[in-house]
Amino acid sequence: METAEIRRRYLQFFADRGHTVVPSASLVSPDPSLLFTVAGMVPFIPYLNGTVPAPYPRAVDSQKCIRTLDIEEVGRTPRHGTFFQMLGNWSFGDYFKQDAIRWAWELLTTSEADGGFGFDPKDLWVTVFQDDDEAEAIWRDEVGLPADRIQRLGYADNYWMTGQPGPAGPDSEIFFDRGPAYGADGGPATGDDRYVEIWNLVFMQYEIANIRSKEDFDVVRELPNKNVDTGMGLERVAFIKQGVENIYEIDQIRPVIDAASRLSGRAYGANAEDDVRMRVVSDHIRSAMMLMLDGVTPSNEGRGYVLRRLLRRSVRAMRLLGVEGATFGELFPVSRDAMSAAYPELLPESGRIQRLADAEEESFLKTLVGGTAILDTAIERTRAAGAEQVAGDTAFLLHDTYGFPIDLTLEVAEEAGLTVDRAAFDRLMQEQRSRAKADAKAKKTALADLSVYSDFRAKGETAFLGYSELVAESRVL
Ligand code: ATP
Ligand code: MG
Ligand code: MG
Ligand code: MG
Repeated sequence: METAEIRRRYLQFFADRGHTVVPSASLVSPDPSLLFTVAGMVPFIPYLNGTVPAPYPRAVDSQKCIRTLDIEEVGRTPRHGTFFQMLGNWSFGDYFKQDAIRWAWELLTTSEADGGFGFDPKDLWVTVFQDDDEAEAIWRDEVGLPADRIQRLGYADNYWMTGQPGPAGPDSEIFFDRGPAYGADGGPATGDDRYVEIWNLVFMQYEIANIRSKEDFDVVRELPNKNVDTGMGLERVAFIKQGVENIYEIDQIRPVIDAASRLSGRAYGANAEDDVRMRVVSDHIRSAMMLMLDGVTPSNEGRGYVLRRLLRRSVRAMRLLGVEGATFGELFPVSRDAMSAAYPELLPESGRIQRLADAEEESFLKTLVGGTAILDTAIERTRAAGAEQVAGDTAFLLHDTYGFPIDLTLEVAEEAGLTVDRAAFDRLMQEQRSRAKADAKAKKTALADLSVYSDFRAKGETAFLGYSELVAESRVL
């Protein structure tokens, strides 16, 4: 089933059940405190908070999203894109748990011939919040899901809040079991990649305040108008329905993997590290293209910096695949052709996007040649001295004078079996920031603190506060 068809069926299913079909908002977040639209709920925040009355009681959409938080996962897990599309159905004080759960099940398990997604019920598991007896009872008694495929999890996994006082509540997530070839039994609670999260149903049931931590806050009251916010990963359903191994191999993305393979002369599937690089390229080219479509241009701060980073990481990945010259001229049109059926507005914009991409690639290739020479010398010198750490001031010089990003320095050093004196680098960065701040004050110009964008947090530190970590990550300072 093509990705476009999955989207069409989802929108149709909920339109048939009284939902207004709402077009996707821009990737540039309509909420001014956020850099990007990180989830389907972002454009609906005023309705969910109740600050603006919702113009419709039910809505359905396919929202373009960017999650830079997931950038390190890209190509390594089967399921994380920096750009992805979140299908969602919404109740603004209208229906609640029972309809949300029953409809989700109906759409997933109705046969393809009858307009559904045709999942075998035996392949589906769900999680519910530990105290949410109501949701569990609906899954077990009304849907008929066997009790041993319903797992209860705690606040970290199955409780939704923004981190701010306001609406919050339990959620229930639906997982697809890829089978024993992908890992051990035990269900999604194991956290194993065998179980792919496809759909999150959020039940905004309470108003909370005095948030001390993700598990410790005051419930002010049960909301008189409860909301439903759901998010289904379009690419995730697509990869499962298309019988491929991961989201990068779906119809909307795979052609770029093939182009990267052609350009590099390396076969996809022959070498694990090369495969990761090709998947990274396929993801980042698409994300960069969609960001430029929404008006973002490469720069050194804010959204433009995220775009620049995606483009540079693509260049870097192509070089690691052995391609020294420019590749965007070949890769972008391939991504455009894979995406333009869903986003026809790409076609008239593709010349503008291509020019931006080519200019960025050209300047970064120059940077790379200069920076690589300096770094190679530094690596040799480090080795000759019998040391294991590239000096922090070398990393800083590369960053500051040559525009050579720190993540690249870290990567190159790691490939040479060395580390980088990160503490010294961070100190120099901090000093530079303080200087810049003082300068800006002197000049009375506003200056954004970019540390939040360059410091992509390590895996494992990110599982705090549900969406609020995504919000914090992309908050405009
Ligand atoms: P995961 O645990 O797999 O990282 P999540 O819990 O962070 O997913 P949610 O915030 O619940 O995801 O988002 C709702 C849905 O959006 C998910 O169930 C998934 O199908 C999809 N989704 C989330 N992040 C991504 C991503 N980076 N790439 C593709 N799809 C995603
Ligand atoms: Mg996630
Ligand atoms: Mg999850
Ligand atoms: Mg989730």
